[in-house]
Amino acid sequence: MKIAIISDLHSNIEALQACLARAQGQNVEKYICLGDIIGYGPDPAEVLDIVMSLPNVEVVKGNHEEALFTAYYKGLRQHIRQTVDWTKSQLSASQLAYLETLPYQVKVGDVTMVHASADQPKKWPYIYNIELATKCMRASDSLVTFVGHTHQPEIFFETPSKHIKNITPSPGLSVPLYAHCRYVINVGSVGQPRDDINAASFVIYDTVEREVKFHRVAYDYMATGKKIIQCGLPHLFAERLAKGH
Ligand code: ZN
Repeated sequence: MKIAIISDLHSNIEALQACLARAQGQNVEKYICLGDIIGYGPDPAEVLDIVMSLPNVEVVKGNHEEALFTAYYKGLRQHIRQTVDWTKSQLSASQLAYLETLPYQVKVGDVTMVHASADQPKKWPYIYNIELATKCMRASDSLVTFVGHTHQPEIFFETPSKHIKNITPSPGLSVPLYAHCRYVINVGSVGQPRDDINAASFVIYDTVEREVKFHRVAYDYMATGKKIIQCGLPHLFAERLAKGH
């Protein structure tokens, strides 16, 4: 079965629709969303509706969902809090109830799905280096753990000699997952890429072939950026989409 794994959609409907069109062309049968459905972008309600309607979808909570409901909000910078407030005003009571009850981590078959890290998922650590990836690997009860949160596509893996290495995956190339190796796979961001490429990022995981393929999908970031400004959200978020950073 092919599973599309999407993360960090950030209320960007143009990017999401472009990724879903790509996934549908690849015979994807199941979807997993690693959280941060909302935040930064102009279409939170519409993006959430689409996610909730995806076939066989499973969703975990991101820190932007957490910020709607807990004291995590207080630690955010002012312009982010402003966006959380605006986003909350756009969502229905039932949408908010759905987001509040999302799990922090799910196991799908023999792989683990979590927004930030399997190591203290409720503290939202960013896996920026091998040391942090190793902590996630050791904390996960699966050989393969999919994460988002940094918005940077990356594969961390343990070699047979027990060294942890990382690679930046090339889009479109299938990467085999060896049976007894541990992996932490960051799928990148659909709605706000931060690796200097302004195309949306997601992964298709083939459970039969046991391989992952990263996808980069161009979308109309100018349209999203215009809506961000029209909604009165910080211009910075529109600029980030254009830069891919
Ligand atoms: Zn995010």
